[in-house]
Amino acid sequence: MQKILIQTLLLLLLSIQIVHAQKPQKPNAAEIYDQIQKLNFLGTVLYIAAHPDDENTRLISYMSNDIHARTGYLSLTRGDGGQNLIGPQLRELLGVIRTQELLEARKIDGGEQFFSRANDFGYSKNPEETLQIWDKEKVLADLVWTIRKFQPDVIINRFDHRSPGTTHGHHTSSAMLSMEGFDLANNAASFPEQLQLVQTWQPKRVFFNTSWWFYGSKEKFDAADKTNLIGISTGVFYSTIGKSNQEIAALSRSSHKSQGFGSTGSRGEDTEYLEFLKGEPLKEKKSLFEGIDTSWNRVKGGKPIGELISMIANQYDFKNPAASIPNLVKAYTMIQALDENHWKTIKSEEIKKIIASCSGLYLEAVSNAQEATPGSIVNLKLEAINRSSAVMELVSVTTIPEQKTTFLNSDLKNNILQNNSIDLQLPQSINYTQPYWLKEPGTLGLYTVEDQKNIGIPDVIREVKVVFNIKINGIEIPFERTVVYKYNDDVKGEMYNFLDIVPVITTTIQEKVLLFPNTRSKYIGINIKAGKNDIKGNLKLDLPKEWKVTPAFIPFQLDKKGTDQTVYFEVTPPAQMSEAVGKSIATIDGILYDKEQININYDHITKQQVLKTAEVKCIRLDLKTNEEKIAYIMGAGDEVPKSLTQMGYKVTIVKPEEITPEKLESFDVVMTGVRAYNTVQALANKQEILFDFVKNGKTMIVQYNTTDDLVTEKIAPYPLKISRDRVTEENAEVRFLVPNHPALNYPNAITPNDFKGWKQEQGLYYPKEFDKAFTPILSSNDKGESAKDGALLIAPYGKGNYIYTGLSLFRELPEGVPGAYKLLSNMISIKPSVNIPNQKIKQ
Ligand SMILES: [Zn+2]
Repeated sequence: MQKILIQTLLLLLLSIQIVHAQKPQKPNAAEIYDQIQKLNFLGTVLYIAAHPDDENTRLISYMSNDIHARTGYLSLTRGDGGQNLIGPQLRELLGVIRTQELLEARKIDGGEQFFSRANDFGYSKNPEETLQIWDKEKVLADLVWTIRKFQPDVIINRFDHRSPGTTHGHHTSSAMLSMEGFDLANNAASFPEQLQLVQTWQPKRVFFNTSWWFYGSKEKFDAADKTNLIGISTGVFYSTIGKSNQEIAALSRSSHKSQGFGSTGSRGEDTEYLEFLKGEPLKEKKSLFEGIDTSWNRVKGGKPIGELISMIANQYDFKNPAASIPNLVKAYTMIQALDENHWKTIKSEEIKKIIASCSGLYLEAVSNAQEATPGSIVNLKLEAINRSSAVMELVSVTTIPEQKTTFLNSDLKNNILQNNSIDLQLPQSINYTQPYWLKEPGTLGLYTVEDQKNIGIPDVIREVKVVFNIKINGIEIPFERTVVYKYNDDVKGEMYNFLDIVPVITTTIQEKVLLFPNTRSKYIGINIKAGKNDIKGNLKLDLPKEWKVTPAFIPFQLDKKGTDQTVYFEVTPPAQMSEAVGKSIATIDGILYDKEQININYDHITKQQVLKTAEVKCIRLDLKTNEEKIAYIMGAGDEVPKSLTQMGYKVTIVKPEEITPEKLESFDVVMTGVRAYNTVQALANKQEILFDFVKNGKTMIVQYNTTDDLVTEKIAPYPLKISRDRVTEENAEVRFLVPNHPALNYPNAITPNDFKGWKQEQGLYYPKEFDKAFTPILSSNDKGESAKDGALLIAPYGKGNYIYTGLSLFRELPEGVPGAYKLLSNMISIKPSVNIPNQKIKQ
């Protein structure tokens, strides 16, 4: 009884995992053939690392497309802590983008994706810190859970568990946890609570996917002892697809657009090296699966199924894939007759896809709207068409989650379209569509996921589906489809989204941070959007009582779903310094709604909806600013110009091609956005104009750039070399090297308190070597490291000043960190007269 229960739950789990939403795939005859071969391979590989982009797509593609193994990638984090090259989203919103990019990558290389609850909290120099912030036991539990659920025969670590401190602490941690998880997954005493839902599992062996990179150079690697390494020739050419393995891997890697990891494929021989770490050693070193039966014999009663699938593959007709349908349906029936087990669930899904592909069976459920609220009725247009001579009947459709079956009993004749329209009643209790890992507040190191069953699931869980029950050759087969919403874009063509479940009302506060440099009140706009027709209620902006908000309530009425309205509250700050979070709360019929809807739209990923608490950080701060006019040159993308506007400055975004002496004349300060010298090629030819601007008595502020791919060597008027120095401890003590320097005194007096409450990290890519014309102003370091003096460097040049800063202002300002505002104001106000020789003031 217990066993049956476990297996039913297992079935449920696997079906959640497999049926994540994606655009319908329309494989061609060669791709179908490939899927048939995969159907006949019962072996599993799990690749483990820490971030989106750590994975070796060449190896994943090779394992999936050449070996035909189920190939998973467990990225412990969703990459929330990185930088975003394509838009303003940071932190958890960036994690949402990177999650989708990984899913797109896996669609290309054939892998499957998993995550743990670990949050990419930012750069970490060693695994001790990482594992402490993550909560090691929980992340280890998730890794063990993934092993027990996915049941890999072989595990491959991207990183070396024996070299802490040589790479990102997340990287080493991923390998260390993998080594532990390998031992624990089969131990029923480890994380026993999981065994209500999964069984223990022992992977056969674990490897480290090494490369010359880990040895320092190609020469050192060539010279190294390779007796414990196995070399795999991954430079395969897939003739039916017309691409090399490396070309597929490059396409996959190019999905990481938010990281700017476009990649060009190569051709020809290629070797991947794996170092054996633990488990059963390889004797012949010919296959990672040595000693594992990867045929259908692996499953009790599976032998005849394997034989039948081999026959299907041998007789497969590339000109007529539909000819395989009778035998495929037979194989499907045989699989259904097996005892419940891991492979039965997986192979059932695989073979259903193949049957649909071979018959050109297209099934789709399209919602009449992009959004719907809980409890509402959604009209669905159902499309079903069979494009083969196979005998088919659309018996019924079942809508999920209401589980209502409608019998249709219509024949699906070759290439005759069947359209049906049905109404689907959404339950009042249905969850809003949003990344499940963001639903509850998490900690710095870990997302909160209350339902164990959801842990590891890569994508947003979409609950509204339609099951098409189709009789093919007399056998009824259920095909599940997630309800989609699609429309035509005049330029891009078919836009394919999914139905989103939204609250009745969402509100957006127009600013995320509101600065009050004095006691003058400010107006704050709140946008109200209706999730359904005819809503009527009150809105309030909730702030602590020392903040005055008028009026107390604003009534609103919206007649039509999707329309919006903006209302304004007047906010008066207290006289003394204060920080508060204002919440926008709507009340309709006594029910409170406090969510903001954030839609993330990029061409390369599925549209994402995130629901966050609608709030604004209000800061009463004694910030002194002068009236400088600022020209801002955008780099990789940041929200600093918005913050400058909040501070009261006039900011103009100047495009690189607009940089001329005449254009700059009206400005006092030029500021470059983050990584401008990595991403804006045109700047290479504008440096002389910018330096002349400084020479003539103005100020130039350059924010951080990375060491890679600078568009010019000469980013400053004096020699300056960026290094990889960074201070990741955001609250590391900051020492003032030149306490009387204007940058620390005018117009705002900076104190050590101004470096408290910083987020994620203090700064990055500090210059290490710089001309003596520069005065280093600040010094700090992570625990146990030498002092880093390159955070803020100021050099007089002509009558003006050039400032280089690796401080992570781009993170702190949008978070409303007061000290960051004061320091930036001082940099902006540096006066041409500042020309104090270094040695005199250095203390
Ligand atoms: Zn990484």
